[in-house]
Amino acid sequence: MIDSLPPLREVIAAHGLSARKSLGQNFLLDLNLTHRIARAAGDLTACDVLEVGPGPGGLTRGLLAAGARHVLAVEKDARCLPALAQIAEACPGRLTILQGDAMEIDPLGHLTPPIKIVANLPYNVGTELLVRWLTPADWPPFWDSLTLMFQREVAERIVASPGSGAYGRLAILAQWRCEARIVLRLPPEAFTPPPRVSSAVVHLRALPAPRYPADAATLSRLVARAFNQRRKMLRASLRGLAPDIGDRLEAVGISPTARAEEIDLARFCALARNLKDGG
Ligand code: SAM
Repeated sequence: MIDSLPPLREVIAAHGLSARKSLGQNFLLDLNLTHRIARAAGDLTACDVLEVGPGPGGLTRGLLAAGARHVLAVEKDARCLPALAQIAEACPGRLTILQGDAMEIDPLGHLTPPIKIVANLPYNVGTELLVRWLTPADWPPFWDSLTLMFQREVAERIVASPGSGAYGRLAILAQWRCEARIVLRLPPEAFTPPPRVSSAVVHLRALPAPRYPADAATLSRLVARAFNQRRKMLRASLRGLAPDIGDRLEAVGISPTARAEEIDLARFCALARNLKDGG
């Protein structure tokens, strides 16, 4: 039984899991908190859950206690494997552990839909994994929802609206195909060791179809460029995308002298269609 497992502090001491900065290791040891994060993912009882970076397994325990049908946990640090194996033993058949780099492992062969992704992500790979999950060529994706811990500043970028300083590539890619909201905010002291910044959990629910049609790769390239030089006028920051970018901007109702942060999702999608289909 999962409740019979030893406290996480004991597990960490027993297996010598001193946190490594290079692996983005800031552990959640308060099981009340990991249960809250698991609950923020919604009903897990009929779902498979992909967890990236389980570490000593605090969130993993929360997911299993919340009734997840099956959890696939992908962890890079081999030191964590004995602690995770102990959890797997307490929940026969419900936890599979894969050791390796989540950026390289294809988890799909181990998962049965419906699938939810829940993770306290390593900060060094979190944004890149999120962008990958948001930008497959086809939609809907293999997952139904993402419940992810980020640095608070990154979480705010995901849910930002046009005109705000946080609005940019992440807001557009997330809100294009998902409903995104912040569901929990955590101070540094919630983690061991405490990171320098606050954190927040974002819940993203995949929409059945994107809000506006666009090609994912084109939109992704477009917003990367537009916000890379966010203070510049779009006709300058997007010059490399098409020689007649000024005309294309006007064709979709964007002033060539506008700046990226003034442009809403609908207009970016219209411009991506114009760039892809030649207008
Ligand atoms: N989920 C645990 C918790 O909440 O206490 C640990 C979270 S800690 C922020 C991030 C975890 O991701 C660490 O266990 C780290 O070893 C692991 N990790 C780092 N890079 C990884 C990668 N590329 N692939 C898989 N796991 C990774």
